[in-house]
Amino acid sequence: MASLRFIALEKTMDRVPQEVKTSSHRISDYFGENAFNKKAMRQFLSEGAYKSVNNAINFGSTLDRKVADLVASGMKSWAISKGATHYTHWFQPLTGRTAEKHDSFNTPAGDGTSFETFDGAQLIQQEPDASSFPHGGIRNTFEARGYTAWDPTSPAFIIGETLCIPTVFISYTGEALDYKTPLLRALHAVDKAATDVCQYFDKNITKVQATLGWEQEYFLVDSALAMARPDLLLTGRTLFGHSSSKGQQLDDHYFGAIPSRAHAFIRDFEKEVHLLGIPVMTRHNEVAPNQFECAPLFEECNLAVDHNSLLMDVMERVAERHHFKVLLHEKPFAGINGSGKHNNWSLSTNSPKHRNLLNPGNTPKTNLRFLTFFINSIRAVAEHDDLLRASIAGAGNDHRLGANEAPPAIMSIFIGTQLSKILGEIESKVSNSNLSSDEKTELKLNIGKIPELLLDNTDRNRTSPFAFTGNKFEFRAVGSTANCANPMTVLNTAMAQQLKRFKSEVDTLIEAGKKKDDAIFEILRNYIIESKDIIFDGNGYGEEWVKIAEERGLNNKKTTPEALEFLISDKSKELFISQNVLSEREIEARYEIEVEKYKLSIQIESRVMADMGLNHIIPTAVEYQKGLVENVNGLKTIFGDEFIKYASEQIDMIKDISQHIQDIRKNITDMTTARKAANKMEREKDQAKAYCNNVKPFFEKIRYDVDKLELLVDNKNWPLPKYREMLFTK
Ligand code: ADP
Ligand code: MG
Repeated sequence: MASLRFIALEKTMDRVPQEVKTSSHRISDYFGENAFNKKAMRQFLSEGAYKSVNNAINFGSTLDRKVADLVASGMKSWAISKGATHYTHWFQPLTGRTAEKHDSFNTPAGDGTSFETFDGAQLIQQEPDASSFPHGGIRNTFEARGYTAWDPTSPAFIIGETLCIPTVFISYTGEALDYKTPLLRALHAVDKAATDVCQYFDKNITKVQATLGWEQEYFLVDSALAMARPDLLLTGRTLFGHSSSKGQQLDDHYFGAIPSRAHAFIRDFEKEVHLLGIPVMTRHNEVAPNQFECAPLFEECNLAVDHNSLLMDVMERVAERHHFKVLLHEKPFAGINGSGKHNNWSLSTNSPKHRNLLNPGNTPKTNLRFLTFFINSIRAVAEHDDLLRASIAGAGNDHRLGANEAPPAIMSIFIGTQLSKILGEIESKVSNSNLSSDEKTELKLNIGKIPELLLDNTDRNRTSPFAFTGNKFEFRAVGSTANCANPMTVLNTAMAQQLKRFKSEVDTLIEAGKKKDDAIFEILRNYIIESKDIIFDGNGYGEEWVKIAEERGLNNKKTTPEALEFLISDKSKELFISQNVLSEREIEARYEIEVEKYKLSIQIESRVMADMGLNHIIPTAVEYQKGLVENVNGLKTIFGDEFIKYASEQIDMIKDISQHIQDIRKNITDMTTARKAANKMEREKDQAKAYCNNVKPFFEKIRYDVDKLELLVDNKNWPLPKYREMLFTK
C-alpha cells in the first residue's frame, strides 16, 4: 500500500480553489458589508438609538433596557436582511482562541407558526454553558456559571448564517474569564491618565485612545500534506523533519512573487475580512518559503484585538476551501524563521481627531508634548519590562525568543541615534533650578527640529523587541498565535500608571512655584536618567548584548515557566490592582491558567513525539533495515568469504540504523519516565517547570536520531511529508 505521504503528495496536484463571491470587484463597495458598523446602524436604528450607542462607544455610558431593545431589533433586522438565522455571543476565553454558542432567532409561537425574536436582554447578556473554559479556580462548582456581556465598542458581524456579538466573559462574581475584560479596563485607565496629561498642552482633548496595528505572520502548507503529519495536526508544529537542502538561504522568497495558489488564497481571505470591515492592507512573502504576512491599517486597540482574533479564525476557514492548512504556530519548522505578530502601538486624541501623540509636531510646543509621551512610554517599559516579557510567554514563543532570528527574551528599547541625542541633550541641559531664558531658547530650538531629524532618520533596528519607528512603538516579541490583548493590557496599564505618576510629580513642582514647561522638563530628565538601562540601539541578536544586559541588571528569562513568575510578583500585583485592571484573584487565576497551558502543550508534544517515534519511525527503519540485511545475506551467498568487499557499506548502514533505533527508544523511555515524575508533582507550577527542564530536553535528542534516519531510509518508505515537500509545494 502506498504510504499516506505519497497519497498526500499526489493529492496536492489537483487543487481547484473556490473563491467567495462579492457584490462588486471594488473593495470600497463591499468593505464592512458584514459588520454592523456606523453606516448600518444609521440605516437600521432610530436617531435616538443611534446616538445612545455612539455615546456608549465613545464615553462608556450604559444603555437602558428600552434603548437596548431598539438596538437589538435594528441589529436583528439588519442581520436577517443579510441572511442570518442565528446569533451568538462571541468571546475570547483564556484558551487563546474564540468561542461562540449559537442560538436561533426563531421562536415558536405555540400555534404551529413561529417568528424571529431578539431583544435587548438577549443582546446585552447571555449565560453560555461554559464550565469547561479555563478559569484558574475562579468558578468553583457552586458558582460555576459565567456570563457574557455585550461590548458595544466592537461592531457585531456576520459569519455564515450567524450574527456574532462581541462580548466580555465574566464569572458570576464579576471576575474576568477572558482577554477582553482586562483590556477594556486597561484602555479606560490609559485614556484617563493620558487625557489628564494632555491637559498641559491642549484643553480641548477629552479622550485618548490607544491604537494598535498588528502584523500577522503565518505559513501555508498543503492540507493533504499536513494531514499526513500527526505532529502538525496535534501540536501545530513539526516535531521531526530534516532540513531541506534548500531552505531560506537564497532569500528569494522575501518580497518575491507570491505563488499562484497562495495568491488565490490570500485574495479570497482578504475579501472575507474586508466584508467584515477589517482593514487589511499589505501582503507580501516573508523570509521563509511558504511564509506570508498580512497587516491591517491600525485601529482603536480593542477593535484591533477583536479583528486579529477574527482574522485568525477566518484565515483557517478560508484555507480549508483552498486545501491549505494555515500554520499560526511561532515555530512550525526547525531551522527556518518562525512567525511573530508585531504590535504597533500608539495613543491618539479626540481633538483634533486622531492626533497621534507619538508623532513629533513642528513646533517646540507640540514637540514637548511628543517628548512627554515618548519618554513616559520608555519609562513605563523600563519599569515593567518583566511583565511585558510575561505577557508574551508561551511554549511556542519560547522557540523564537532568544533564538537567532527573533528578539531575545531581554526587553530593551530601540530609539535610534537622533532621539538618543535629544534625550542626551535634555539630560545635560536641564537642571533642577529654573532654566535661564537662553537655555530655554536653545532647548526649544533643538526640540523644534525633531521632525526634520526623524525624516532623515533611516536607522531601523530589526533586532530590537521594542522599537520606536518614527511615530509609534513596535512591540516585536509577540508570538504569532498570541491574542494581542495580553501584551496590550500590560503595555497600556503600565503606561496609565506611569502617566499618573508623571502628572502628580509635575503638579507638585508647579505647586512649589515652577513654571509648567520647566517642571515637565525636569521630570522628563529624571525619567531619562532612570530609564537608561532599557535603551539599547545595538545588535539585539548578538552574544555581547546578553552580557551587557546582565551587567545592566535586565531580566533575561528564556522559558515560559520562569517568565510567568513575573505575573505574580508584588510589583505586578500592585500595578494591576492600582489601575483597576485585575484583582489579586484574577492575577492568580491567570497565572494558573498560563502555567497549565504551558504544561499541557509540552505534555502533548511529548506524547505525540513518543507515538510517532515508536509507531511511525522505528517500524519504518526496521523495515528498511530488513531489506539491507537480506541484501547482505544475498551478497554472502554470491561472493562467499569475499562478500565483505561488497557489503561493508550496507553493514555500516545496518549498524547505524540499529544505533539510531536504540537511541530513540531509550530517549523515549527516559522521557516517559520524566513525564510520569512530573505528573506526580503536587503543584501545577512545579509540573510546568519539570516539563520544561526535564521533559523538553529530550525533544532535541529524539529528533536528532529521527532526522538522521530520514536521511538513511529509502525515500519511498519514509512516512512523513518532508520539509522540502511542505515548504516548496506550490
Ligand atoms: P513593518 O515595516 O514593521 O513591516 P509596516 O509599516 O508594514 O511595518 O506596518 C506598520 C504597522 O503599524 C501597520 O499595521 C500600521 O497600520 C501600524 N501603524 C501605523 N501607525 C500607527 C499608529 N499610530 N498606531 C498604531 N499602529 C500604527
Ligand atoms: Mg513590523
